[in-house]
Parts: sequence; structure tokens; C-alpha cells
Amino acid sequence: MMTIEVDLHSDTQTRPSEGMRHAMVSAEVGDEQRGEDPSANRLCELATELTGKEAAVFMPSGTMCNQVAMIVHCQPGDEIIADKTSHIINSESGGAAALAGAQIRAVDGIRGVFTAEQAEEAINSVKRNFPRTSMIEIEQTSNAGGGSIWPLETICEVADVAKRHGLAMHMDGARLLNAVVASNVTASDFGAPFDSLWIDLSKGLGCPVGAVLCGSKDFIEQAWGWKQRLGGAMRQSGVIAAAGIYALENNIQRLAEDHASARRLAEGMEGVSGIDVWPVETNLVFFDLKKTGLTAQDFHERLLERGVRIGIKSKYEMRAVTHLDVSMDQVNRAVDAVADVVAEA
Ligand SMILES: *Cc1c(COP(=O)(O)O)cnc(C)c1O
Repeated sequence: MMTIEVDLHSDTQTRPSEGMRHAMVSAEVGDEQRGEDPSANRLCELATELTGKEAAVFMPSGTMCNQVAMIVHCQPGDEIIADKTSHIINSESGGAAALAGAQIRAVDGIRGVFTAEQAEEAINSVKRNFPRTSMIEIEQTSNAGGGSIWPLETICEVADVAKRHGLAMHMDGARLLNAVVASNVTASDFGAPFDSLWIDLSKGLGCPVGAVLCGSKDFIEQAWGWKQRLGGAMRQSGVIAAAGIYALENNIQRLAEDHASARRLAEGMEGVSGIDVWPVETNLVFFDLKKTGLTAQDFHERLLERGVRIGIKSKYEMRAVTHLDVSMDQVNRAVDAVADVVAEA
């Protein structure tokens, strides 16, 4: 197999930097389950300051944050409203059904974003034979929507609907901070309409592991019970929490560089005939190959021969992701490789 010189596969590929590793090695630690890990406690404090929520809990993954939130907000038999492309529908091993006992009503949004009208239409009226709607979930940014940002105004309109119907609002904020940096809206402004939200540390923020779930004291108390029950409670988690602290202190503003590389990548590929690039708002760049005559699988393999890796999204669509381990020079090389592959085809 060829060595990969430019890896645009995912922002989950980021590796802890030297500074982050240093913070991890020198972390103060204790028993997290007893509330005695100073680094995990500090990380939760920073997350509450950032998101404007009362309390937070450190989790091993974003998936566990979503799962725990659905369990806390829903009873078995309840229904959750989410976009059809959402991670909770497509990428969590059916956890909503298996763990919360809830089903998800898929809304047909545009690039992962739906309207308050669509949310309201998806709510079941109260009737003995209807599932009880109990929660609305949105993804900021929308992953499978191409890194699209939910405008604050749309969020507030959806939250109004939720409030009128007594539904919980939950944000999958895997890439919330990308939305914050790209739109100049603070995380606490984006977070205010939500009962619960989380941020991923292991994507663009560059940590090896971890996510932080935030909400009211009561919500987090219940979430802690489920973290414990699901086996997510840790011991000296300060070693990894320290990476999270480092990320929140050093790696947020630099997400703007990833957005600039994503725009450069998109602009470069727009110049290649036959490639249609989706609108780029943050660090995800989706593009359609149909007019080149190549399938995504062919394209993927031919790019790999040139040392460039880009993910396959569907039969004719690709998904490229920029992050802190991808330089502008590498982005330019990727554009050249894409142009070569298309020219050859
Ligand atoms: C990555 C991702 C998750 C899951 O996060 P993990 O930390 O990988 O478990 C959830 N939602 C979205 C939108 C994601 O991109």
C-alpha cells in the first residue's frame, strides 16, 4: 500500500501535539468517580464556562454523550425528532432503540438543517396510540450535511416549538466550536436554547479521546448515574482530561485555519471540470463526481496511488475534512492530485 502523504479522511485522525502530550504527562490526577480528579473537574468547569451551562460531566466519547442524553430525556416508547442525516440515526449502532428504547422520527432537512415548521409537523399529538414525542435533537455543525451551521435564529425558532410542546432540546455539538469560530456566535449563545449539549474533544480540537456533556445540575446528576451504569466512569481520567483542558485553552481559535484550508480545497476543486463542490461553511468539504464519469471508489483508489486519502460518502460523492494535522501546502497537493486524477479519467 502507498504511504498516505495527505490525509483528508477525517478530523478524528488528529494526533495529540507535543504541547498536549506534555500537559497529559504532567496532569494532576485522582479518582474521577469520587470527584477527586482535579484535571477532570477543571475540564468540566471550563466546559460550563464555555457553554454557559450549570454543570458538566467528562465522557469517554461523543456517542456516550448522545446515548446518555437520550436515556435521560426519554422514556421507552418515546419519539425523538432529528434530521434524517443525523449521527444518532445513522452512526450509533441503533443506540436510541437499544438503550433509551426510543424511536427517532427523521426530518427531511436541507444539509442537515430543518425548520421550526418541520419540527412542529413531526410532533405527535397526544393520543393513546401515538408515540409520545419527548425530544428534539440538532447537530451543530451538521456532519453528514457537509459541516453546515445551524443559524442561531433557526435554533431559537425550533426551541420555541419545543418549549410550547414541553420537549427537551439536545445538541450534538461534536463540531459546535467550528460553528462558533466560523459564525462569531459564542458557544453559550448557541447553547442557551438547549437542555443538554456536548462538545467532542477528539475531532478538530485534537485530543486523543473524550467529550464533555453539559446541562443543568439535575440533568448532569442523572447523566452521571448512566455514565456509571454504562461503564463510562473512569479513575485517573485527568491524564486524558488534561488534553481537553489544553485543547480548550489552545485549539479553539485555530479552527479558523482549518476553515481557510477547507475553502482553499473547495476553490481548487471548483476549478476542476466535472467536480461539483457543496457549499463550504466549516472544515468539511463534500463534492460530487458524477460528471467526471468516476465512481467514488475509483476516485478514492486513484487518489491513494498519489498519496492522498479522501473519504467516500456515497457512490459518487466524497467527503474531505481539514484539521490541525493538515497544512495549506498539503491541501494544495490534494487539489493537484484531484486535478490529475480527473484529467487522466
Ligand atoms: C463524531 C461524531 C459523533 C460521535 O462522537 P465520538 O466521540 O466519535 O463518539 C457524534 N455526532 C457527530 C455529529 C459526530 O461527528
